[in-house]
Amino acid sequence: MKMIYSPQEYRIKDERMKPFIDENEIWEILDETKSTKEEVRRIIQKSLDKNRLSLQETAVLINATDPELIEEIKQGARELKEKVYGDRIVIFAPLYIGNKCSNNCTYCGFRANNTKQKRITLQKEQIKREVKALEDTGQKRLILVYGEHKDYDADFIADSVRTVYDVKSGNGEIRRVNINAAPLDIDGYKKVKEAGIGTFQIFQETYHRDEYKKYHLSGKKADYDWRLTGLDRAQEALIDDVGIGALFGLYDWRFETLALLRHVNHFEACYNVGPHTISFPRIKAALDSNINPEYEVSDEDFVRLVAILRLAVPYTGMILTAREPEHIREEVIKLGVSQIDAGTNIQLGGYSEKNEKQQKLEQEQFEIGDTRSLGEVIDELIEKEYLPSFCTACYRKGRTGEHFMEFSVPGFIKRFCSQNAILTLAEYLEDYATDEQKQKGYKLIDKKIKELESIDNQKVAPLLERLELVRQGKRDLYF
Ligand code: SAM
Ligand code: SF4
Repeated sequence: MKMIYSPQEYRIKDERMKPFIDENEIWEILDETKSTKEEVRRIIQKSLDKNRLSLQETAVLINATDPELIEEIKQGARELKEKVYGDRIVIFAPLYIGNKCSNNCTYCGFRANNTKQKRITLQKEQIKREVKALEDTGQKRLILVYGEHKDYDADFIADSVRTVYDVKSGNGEIRRVNINAAPLDIDGYKKVKEAGIGTFQIFQETYHRDEYKKYHLSGKKADYDWRLTGLDRAQEALIDDVGIGALFGLYDWRFETLALLRHVNHFEACYNVGPHTISFPRIKAALDSNINPEYEVSDEDFVRLVAILRLAVPYTGMILTAREPEHIREEVIKLGVSQIDAGTNIQLGGYSEKNEKQQKLEQEQFEIGDTRSLGEVIDELIEKEYLPSFCTACYRKGRTGEHFMEFSVPGFIKRFCSQNAILTLAEYLEDYATDEQKQKGYKLIDKKIKELESIDNQKVAPLLERLELVRQGKRDLYF
């Protein structure tokens, strides 16, 4: 039987759907927590021992203002990233499917009352062209992005996901499609789950209820609670890979950082598993948007908050997007980011068509900061000895949700992920790299294999076997 509940009914139906953010609690913790050198150091060590931090402990890190302590927090985050996630960086690309929107989020170029915005919805053939163009550069993981509009209902989203998976170009294919779209009802989530999505991502933008009202003037998104409980309904539909986020620059970054942690706690308490990823986009200029500079997050504070988040939730993937310029990406990656987009183009139809600059802004949600191609980003990662990874193994092996946590907690991430990163990098080098890149890439692979050998000798033989098969033309091998 089809279940249709109003947002109000959803909240009553299930305790878990109750809004869980208490602004006063968060501010009290922030206001009443003192940061001593000893406490900051104890808390960094607790995190390095791979323990989750409490709200109070995270507030101690947030309130640390001594430059020496801030540097220790950053150093702690760097160490933890290396310990838990190793040196692989998972790569994906966003694909904007449609920019019609019936909401009025004051910061976004797609908002309904922005009459200068050209409205475009990619038709099936256009989606196929875009996906082919992406596959031809080597992409394997996409996140599909949609405005909130009646045309983009669950059937439409599920349909576009299937279209993406169907496109194969040479050895190219998309192996994981994630979604960033408006919150759905439970039936809607079930439909998109059936289409084979990976993560469903919803950013709360700001967790502060009154501030939220100021930015979300009309449309369904004006309902704070409906959005806050959006991923609880996803869980109810058995989507256990969910991504949370806050749009930094709408309100005080310290509050948002703690509220993100509160959201993580909520998931852990209710579903026994935290979110798969946390995103921390910073506001970027958008066509005719009116952004209040009061809460602008400086580069320095941005770097700090990423380091604090890393320490607070050692097992959650952290996503950094091309909103940020190259030099910030370089610094923040070191602090614990596990996923980045690369070769990003957020213009509708932009991967397969070239357009003039002005036309571009009229079809974009905001301006991006890192405009390098996928090849250029990979070059840089290899140069800095990170392992670029297109791995999609966990989700296809059923290592999602709680199972993902089980694997990640005892350090499995590093062992599975490094090997799968090596295999997917080898595929990329064989199919898409220049000769020079190929040479540098395999040199890095050799180095990483030696490192793996020193940790666990037995792991290496099956990896070498698969690597040889990739060289011979086999694809999609993973652990
Ligand atoms: N329409 C859906 C929604 O609002 O959830 C999903 C797509 S929306 C295009 C994806 C995210 O882009 C939003 O959640 C918001 O955090 C971010 N965003 C919107 N305007 C932005 C801006 N000017 N700068 C940076 N990020 C922005
Ligand atoms: Fe629409 Fe999303 Fe932009 Fe808000 S952030 S105007 S909901 S596309």
